[in-house]
Amino acid sequence: MQTTLRPSGKGLSRRDLFGLGATVFGSAVARIARAGQSARRVVVWSEGTAPVDKVYPDDVNTAIAAGLRRLLPEWQVETAGLDSPEQGCTEESLQRCDVLIWWGHKRHGEVKDAYVDRIERRVKQEGMGFIAVHSAHFAKPNKRLMGTRCGWAAYKTDGCRLEVEIKEPNHPISAGVSAFTLPQIERYSEPYQVPAPDAVPLAGTYVYPDGRREPTRVGLCWTIGKGRMFYFAPGHETYPNLNRPEVQRVFANAVQWAAASR
Ligand code: ZN
Repeated sequence: MQTTLRPSGKGLSRRDLFGLGATVFGSAVARIARAGQSARRVVVWSEGTAPVDKVYPDDVNTAIAAGLRRLLPEWQVETAGLDSPEQGCTEESLQRCDVLIWWGHKRHGEVKDAYVDRIERRVKQEGMGFIAVHSAHFAKPNKRLMGTRCGWAAYKTDGCRLEVEIKEPNHPISAGVSAFTLPQIERYSEPYQVPAPDAVPLAGTYVYPDGRREPTRVGLCWTIGKGRMFYFAPGHETYPNLNRPEVQRVFANAVQWAAASR
């Protein structure tokens, strides 16, 4: 409802006052309803192997969470990891989780299959969103949800940069994101062994130190059962790309997109 106040001096009519009262009452009811609903919740999970003397002294998940807290103030943003109770995958936590973001690298094998079962059920049957980042392509939940080996053809840290382009500007994950460059990156070469995605909002080109160029997919989307899934290829633990505002915007968009199926 829209209420227009008359210029001062003319006073408010009975109708104005009624309208104003209804508006104030309506927004108060909406606020109470939102509070009662418990805020939407995203959990950012990490295995805890980012070097403490490098760019993510408090781990990768903390950096991703900081961007989400800045851009999604209405969301409840939490972090979890291998050392959390039940490896950060308690039933209670997953039940309240609208979107789970996962970063792992060296400790994929330590994640218990029982917890992967829970994640799979929450995504496929109950519509929880799942976002895998960079080296989490080999994480158990990522492989389970994709149903494929999830390998890339090559892995190189050879001084490449990545020029990211917005392939699908109308996709929600592209909202407010312009083309940007990540000056240092770990290169994952195509093909990425996954099912055909529903959408590839972000693509890009690796540019080698000698100028050679190699195209790649950067951000891929799938629907898995009732859930939405996004994979973001950059995110190596020794480059500060996850702190960049463009990347933080992509994550905030991806969280909102992945939660939308619920
Ligand atoms: Zn890496």
